[in-house]
Amino acid sequence: MDDRMFRTAMGKFATGVTVIASELDGEVHGMTANAFMSVSLDPKLVLISVGTDAKMNKIIQESQKFTVNILSGSQKEMSMIFSGQIKEERKVDFDIFEGLPVIENSLVSMACSVYETFEAGDHTLYVGEVMNLSLKDGEPLTFFEGKYKQMI
Ligand code: FAD
Repeated sequence: MDDRMFRTAMGKFATGVTVIASELDGEVHGMTANAFMSVSLDPKLVLISVGTDAKMNKIIQESQKFTVNILSGSQKEMSMIFSGQIKEERKVDFDIFEGLPVIENSLVSMACSVYETFEAGDHTLYVGEVMNLSLKDGEPLTFFEGKYKQMI
């Protein structure tokens, strides 16, 4: 199989969309990610996969903290901003939750501290311990075959 076939196959797995956020030296950085999963209930652990070359990778390595923000159906623009799909810079106001930056009006925002790190090929896997989270009702933004979808 070539890279394109692998990517096409992985794109058949429908996911939600998150923005990972972290802060270093007073500067907030966000990155869109759909490689997110729940790992453990006791302790409460989640996992994200971040490209080795992504700026976010260096920031989490240093800060050892990040937030995961599960986007609602009305937050497609946030995903496009933090994936670089919108090229021009946009000003985004972050809320602060447990001392960390979060995207306001996300379905879920969770504050995590790094529990374990694994190098895996061209990505780094961060297992985060969830220190606290906030919840809202609503429909999620979803991603399938490289396109955004809404549940309704
Ligand atoms: P950059 O490319 O420098 O930043 C990303 C964008 O966010 C830039 O346009 C930047 O201007 C903007 N930005 C950052 N901080 C702020 C701020 N404070 N205010 C305003 N704008 C800001 N990559 C992965 O590694 N893992 C994944 O699971 C993953 N899933 C993805 C899912 C989807 C649906 C999409 C569309 C992309 C996904 N990507 C994933 C790709 C990833 O989002 C991009 O490669 C991203 O550009 C990498 O970000 P970076 O940390 O290198 O920083």
